[in-house]
Amino acid sequence: MNEEQLNQEQIEELNNLASLPKEEQQAELQKFLKKLSPEQIEFLKKQQGNGCIFCSITEGKIPSNVIYEDNHVIAVLDINPASRGHTLVIPKKHYAVTALMPDKEAEHLFNIANKISKALFDNLKSEGTNIFVANGVIAGQNVAHAVVHVIPRYKDDGLNFFWAGKKANDKDMGDIKKLLAGKIKIEEEKKIHKIEKKKIDYPEEERIA
Ligand SMILES: [Zn+2]
Repeated sequence: MNEEQLNQEQIEELNNLASLPKEEQQAELQKFLKKLSPEQIEFLKKQQGNGCIFCSITEGKIPSNVIYEDNHVIAVLDINPASRGHTLVIPKKHYAVTALMPDKEAEHLFNIANKISKALFDNLKSEGTNIFVANGVIAGQNVAHAVVHVIPRYKDDGLNFFWAGKKANDKDMGDIKKLLAGKIKIEEEKKIHKIEKKKIDYPEEERIA
């Protein structure tokens, strides 16, 4: 793990802080900050909504080429595109990584990314797309605000997302399976029914530009 990153426990502690009453929050925050390394404090500053470049984009403070917007997400053209039509799908609420998003919001984010992908096939004649998420500095995340990249692919675009696979060890595969199987939980069914009822809040497909 990169030394400037917060661990899962620290992220949870920070989220709990956010839900405290204002007067308690400040004192608790000071205690929390004392436990962090200077690198972590720097990282944290970048995570805050204030000064977050993606929050500035979603709030319209930084002009951008918006191709889709609803109450929850905005999709803009990347100003340093990997390829023609490279689009960033950004949740409007500040989440440092996608793992912190509630199911409902994550579902919507990835659904819109999928629709952007379709629009790239249909309207920019892309021959393929890569849908890419970097969670954490070590994974190549350089802005601490969750984002889904939708990268259209063209013949001879020079991009390469392949990696060299390593030979798996049977025992380790068994251990990993034990560690993960049954740990992937989705929010309860009754909440999902609520989402279905609220579907009307979400935009219609034709709103994609
Ligand atoms: Zn942000």
